[in-house]
Amino acid sequence: MAQAKKALGSSQKKGGAAARTVVKKYPNYIGGEWVASSSGEWFENTNPADTRDVVGRFPVSTREDVEAAVSAAKTAADRWRRLPAPRRAEILFRLGELLIRDKDRFAREMTREMGKVLKETGGDVQEAIDCTYYTAGEGRRLHGFTTPAEMPDKFAMCVRQPVGLCGLITPWNFPMAIPSWKLIPALVCGNTVVIKPAEDTPLSTYNLVKACEEAGVPAGVVNLVTGYGETAGAAIVNHPSVRLISFTGSTETGRVVAGACAERNAICSLEMGGKNVIMVLEDADLDLAVEGAVWGAFGTSGQRCTASSRVVVHKKVYKKFTQMLVERAKGLRVGNGLDEKTDVGPVINADAVHKILGYVEIGQREDGARLACGGNRLTGGGHANGYFIEPTVFADAAPDMRISQEEIFGPVTTVIPTSSLEEAIDIGNGVRYGLSASIYTRDVNRAFRAMQEMYTGIFYVNSSTIGAEVHLPFGGTKGTGNGHREAGTQVLDIFTEWKSIYVDYSGKLQRAQIDEVNFE
Ligand code: NAD
Repeated sequence: MAQAKKALGSSQKKGGAAARTVVKKYPNYIGGEWVASSSGEWFENTNPADTRDVVGRFPVSTREDVEAAVSAAKTAADRWRRLPAPRRAEILFRLGELLIRDKDRFAREMTREMGKVLKETGGDVQEAIDCTYYTAGEGRRLHGFTTPAEMPDKFAMCVRQPVGLCGLITPWNFPMAIPSWKLIPALVCGNTVVIKPAEDTPLSTYNLVKACEEAGVPAGVVNLVTGYGETAGAAIVNHPSVRLISFTGSTETGRVVAGACAERNAICSLEMGGKNVIMVLEDADLDLAVEGAVWGAFGTSGQRCTASSRVVVHKKVYKKFTQMLVERAKGLRVGNGLDEKTDVGPVINADAVHKILGYVEIGQREDGARLACGGNRLTGGGHANGYFIEPTVFADAAPDMRISQEEIFGPVTTVIPTSSLEEAIDIGNGVRYGLSASIYTRDVNRAFRAMQEMYTGIFYVNSSTIGAEVHLPFGGTKGTGNGHREAGTQVLDIFTEWKSIYVDYSGKLQRAQIDEVNFE
């Protein structure tokens, strides 16, 4: 579970350079009002590239704050659900325009709170824009269906109805994209929401919610509470009026969330961890494969659920591929994501540094793999005040090693040799997660074989394990998910429930499965 980068009671004094500057406070948004927490406490959001830089202060929300947010969402629910979906969508199209208008600012603020490089935070905001336009379009579709009834003079149809009040709980690695993937479909479908962003990146969700207000989303329809998972998050998950929990985060937290939802029969949609594989066959374009592995393993400092944290390489090209990958990894510039020359930004917080370096040690000592490059925290020069880790490659790893099995969530990838496609597929599938996988080959037959045999929610051919687009379903199998898919039209199945409707215009009692209907 992620620990926030920084916690601060209202009574505490901050030290260092930040203490001399005025740090902006960003309140909760409840029932159309911007309000402080009933706790009176605020936590600090600091820049992982330079922890002296305090991005803002956010409310440490309590059960009472969640209660107020739920109450506001309940009050707004009937009016919002009765507003025709095309009208709800019009408001969201306006939101899309505002996100485009403020894209550059949002990207810069995201880099400052989260660390990833500007071109990636621009992509994160763009994903929210794409999601908004695409899903708002569903306001004029939200298709149901009609079907023949088995009795005469009877009409049968199926329509979608909103599930009701939705609790949205999000992680820090896609600070605007992931909240948008949940918020926009929830709203188009006619639900009201309470959203709690991750402790490390509340500003990007604040920006999204603020834009909702400006776009004209009515008071109470979207409510924002910031704070810690174990308190504010748990209060949402356990609230009896919250009909649906949509959660993205670690598999460990997801299990806790799922258990709490099961207790009170709430709908629960989970998007969790990954241990994604790139398979490189002997006929692959090696330059392309290395390019994909570098982008997949070290983009977002490896902190993507779809990160390429394993590369399974055919023995015939293993040595060459590994050399090329290591050379490229060594050449990456690690630094502040706001600097355009930076390839790899910091990791999110001190806990992440500890966890990632712990895995570097496990890889060397416990597992006995070969550390081919990286493995260190960078502390000199421009790295002194941030959480920077060298791009790290483990080679000669076995598939059952901990570094080959567990989600490290940092700039670390593990290269595993293989002698056949079949073995590569077994290794690829041989983890508890099932989010994304990819294959590099020029052989269409083997590409299709892998496409068929990999048990993941996403699969790529001659491309890295990352790069999802909003109009295709997104999610994973096994330990990654619980059977739902976000994005695409499939997300509508999370945020609506089906209602089957029968209209009998025969004027008499007709008993399905009992009365005979003959040709006369
Ligand atoms: P996390 O599980 O620590 O936290 C996620 C969210 O859950 C945060 O908002 C947190 O405050 C909240 N939370 C924590 N404890 C809670 C509790 N008891 N009750 C309710 N809410 C609680 O995850 P993280 O560190 O923020 O994110 C990283 C993880 O997310 C990785 O495992 C990554 O693979 C996964 N992830 C998955 C996807 C996907 O779509 N499959 C996408 C992005 C990230």
